[in-house]
Amino acid sequence: MMSLHTSPLEQPGTGDAGGMNVYVSQTAVEMARRGIEVEVFTRATSSEQPPVAELAPGVKVRHVPAGPYEPLGRDELPAQLCAFTSGVLRAEAFHEPGHYDLIHSHYWLSGQVGWLARDRWGVPLVHTAHTLAKVKNRALAEGDTPEPRTRVIGEEQVVAEADRLVANTPVEARELIGLYDADPRTVSTVSPGVDLDRFTPGSRSAARAELGLPEDAIVLAFAGRIQPLKAPDVLLRAAATLLADRPDLAARLVVLVVGGPSGSGMEQPRALRELAVSLGIERQTRFLPPQPGRALVNVYRAADVVTVPSYNESFGLVALEAQACGTPVVAAEVGGLPVAVAHGVSGLLVPSHRAADWASALASLVLRPGRLAELSVNAVPHARRFSWKKTTDALLATYSAATSAFDYHLRSEVAV
Ligand code: UDP
Repeated sequence: MMSLHTSPLEQPGTGDAGGMNVYVSQTAVEMARRGIEVEVFTRATSSEQPPVAELAPGVKVRHVPAGPYEPLGRDELPAQLCAFTSGVLRAEAFHEPGHYDLIHSHYWLSGQVGWLARDRWGVPLVHTAHTLAKVKNRALAEGDTPEPRTRVIGEEQVVAEADRLVANTPVEARELIGLYDADPRTVSTVSPGVDLDRFTPGSRSAARAELGLPEDAIVLAFAGRIQPLKAPDVLLRAAATLLADRPDLAARLVVLVVGGPSGSGMEQPRALRELAVSLGIERQTRFLPPQPGRALVNVYRAADVVTVPSYNESFGLVALEAQACGTPVVAAEVGGLPVAVAHGVSGLLVPSHRAADWASALASLVLRPGRLAELSVNAVPHARRFSWKKTTDALLATYSAATSAFDYHLRSEVAV
């Protein structure tokens, strides 16, 4: 697997680490459990990182030096593609020919590397975009920075070159075909999963006690990378609108925001705290730094509702994780979220980002305990339709299809 810009060993929830890291590590571990050895190539960001680390038995992470030993912005990474690819090719050259059977690249930067390695090694390239610049740019938050043209061009090249493309949802498959001219025969739709052993329903009181939250609080939560695209500000504005209508809730309402700055959100890391102050809800708002999965379980269990207000979301793992813990989700009706959340069954989908619409959706649940309990009961079976095991089954079927269709003869001529 190629995961150039972020490592599966990193803590998700800040910077460049998010759902893709979870996807790569969970599917790699699941493949290793089935006897498939996986090596994940990622850029070294510290001189202290060993050249090879073990993520789990059967899963190695190779730290490839490419540029300075420090995190680089996504705009700086294209300049390191050549150095990174060289490191990947050198690592392979230590082995007998035919060491790798297939390459799976994640995000377009890795796709560029995978494309060249595919031609050198004569093995199929499967690519997952995770997000697409053209889609992101169509749905930007107000004032947010658009994705650059270099990325659009780079994505188009990878789509044209990959032997097989993996889309998270049918919507993303249509975007690949409609916006990027992908050959429909090469696109497979594979739903991401959720760790059903970790994310389970549990005692709300215990979770609240753990987080120091009152037993009778009304808790609205957000977990993820803090940047305009993920729109945690929509939750804060909705909470302020709710309180303007129902000032009697001021003593009970808690808005819990978990995660760290990311993307264009890094330019103003304090913006959300300042917004809470300017909305007059600083007493109700609690910020927590990115939490490991075992602690995130408490956040989901403690919350009455988990919100995913993003402007664009290729899938939305947080929505599935919260539902697996029995917590209904209120999500924006964008991208993959209508797949992750069953509207009116396990949560609600809001077709806008207006504070008034969000406040009324949230009020329709938190002020109606019966309705909330009903959705909470449905949330668990909905989430259980997804799992990393199922995702891995589907990925392996895609790998088989890519291998069967691959013209090894033609490719070995390219390699020569
Ligand atoms: N996450 C985490 N700790 C945090 C916040 C988020 O481990 O404090 C994880 C979360 O469990 C989820 C992932 O980060 O698996 C975020 O994925 P999602 O698809 O929701 O958003 P993305 O980061 O891909 O935009």
